[in-house]
Amino acid sequence: MGRYNALNIVWQALQGNQNWQRVWRDPQPKAHYDVIIIGGGGHGLATAYYLAKLHGITRVAVLEKGWLGGGNVGRNTTIVRSNYMLDGNAPFYEHGMNLWRSMAQDLNYNVMFSPRGVLNLAHNKAQYDEYARRGNAMRLNGIDAEILSRDEVLQREPILVTSAAERFPIFGGLLQPQAGNARHDAVAWGYARAADRLGVDLIQNCEVVDFIQQGEKVVGVTTNRGDIYADKVGMAVAGNTSRLTSKLGLHLPIESHVLQAFVTEPYKPVINGVVTYGGGGHFYISQSNKGGLVFGGDIDGYNSYAQRGNLPVFEDVITAGLSIMPSLSRVKLLRNWGGIMDMSMDGSPIIDTGPIDGLYLNTGWCYGGFKATPASGWCFAYTIANNQAHALNKAFTLDRFAKGYAIDEKGAGPYPKAH
Ligand SMILES: Cc1cc2nc3c(=O)[nH]c(=O)nc-3n(C[C@H](O)[C@H](O)[C@H](O)COP(=O)(O)OP(=O)(O)OC[C@H]3O[C@@H](n4cnc5c(N)ncnc54)[C@H](O)[C@@H]3O)c2cc1C
Repeated sequence: MGRYNALNIVWQALQGNQNWQRVWRDPQPKAHYDVIIIGGGGHGLATAYYLAKLHGITRVAVLEKGWLGGGNVGRNTTIVRSNYMLDGNAPFYEHGMNLWRSMAQDLNYNVMFSPRGVLNLAHNKAQYDEYARRGNAMRLNGIDAEILSRDEVLQREPILVTSAAERFPIFGGLLQPQAGNARHDAVAWGYARAADRLGVDLIQNCEVVDFIQQGEKVVGVTTNRGDIYADKVGMAVAGNTSRLTSKLGLHLPIESHVLQAFVTEPYKPVINGVVTYGGGGHFYISQSNKGGLVFGGDIDGYNSYAQRGNLPVFEDVITAGLSIMPSLSRVKLLRNWGGIMDMSMDGSPIIDTGPIDGLYLNTGWCYGGFKATPASGWCFAYTIANNQAHALNKAFTLDRFAKGYAIDEKGAGPYPKAH
């Protein structure tokens, strides 16, 4: 399979674009693999890629019940950032930022990473102080952070001028200049193509319905396409985690909730970066390369495995958005959709071995697993290959909930729907 480059595009164009090859193979499942990854979302595909690339483990299958990228990785609002404060989180997400910066070259796939800045608005002195504390903690961890005055915020995002003196006056903000967006499904396709090129079998329409155990040890999975055995089985199924682990009698500190997102018709540029508003509601917005305003807010707040949400949260998100950007009241909404979030009890993820021999866990991404895609895949691959966590994910163990070492970035307590 040829590399993507400008010459190749010109060459293919001259041939009427008739000779492009399939981006990945469509293999039949083999009877046995070294590693099975359940879930062909961003995290599963990135894990398979790094297993092959960094650890030389290429007898790997990614089993996806639908199509690659049909889950949350293709449903999110594409915000990529590392503006974390706590020690367990900050180095992990910043490692992810470093991987984002070189991802397109590494995968030979344009993932459209766009470091246009993520700006958190502050609406009073207390919120401003909290952001200053976070920004200082970020800088101590080597993460880029700037505390902006009200004027600097309005200069950066003139659309906010209309709301600056109104119901929720803007006091200032916290900016991570190198954070931004990436094209979400390109990330899935890029990892898929690169993993396939290293020999990984990507098997779509293959639903795992149960685990095969020898004694206690997990030695394979039962799927709608037959039994498949493996030395190691890794799970990266996001909101379906609890449903699958219940087959093993394993109850994890995870709840599944719907998160909705919205996109408008395309408009000329009105928003320069990503803007988040946590004053009188919860709202985050950016403008896609095609011009659509992409935004979201809180989760629906009840447990669900449905990939669509309900109208009260729809109304809540729009209300929050218009209270901070009233000039958007006339934009036309094009679509909305939902994804199933794996909300953990402290808002932080789990990347761990066990607790059953042969099983490896990757879950608990809450609202924010898209930005974690490269770091999660990188750390999960390390954990699977070495049977132990890397220093970057050593805080993300399952037993932290038993030992009381929660990483509660938001300080919301043990309520998954509050993270
Ligand atoms: C509306 C919305 C907005 C979001 N916004 C952001 C954002 O701006 N920034 C950010 O960082 N994060 C965001 N997120 C969160 C982020 O998208 C997720 O945390 C992340 O994508 C989850 O990891 P994943 O990509 O591997 O999950 P998924 O893409 O959901 O992958 C899991 C895969 O497992 C498959 N699967 C499930 N059960 C089985 C089974 N039994 N057998 C085989 N396959 C199975 C599913 O079909 C799915 O394809 C958002 C999410 C949503 C829904």
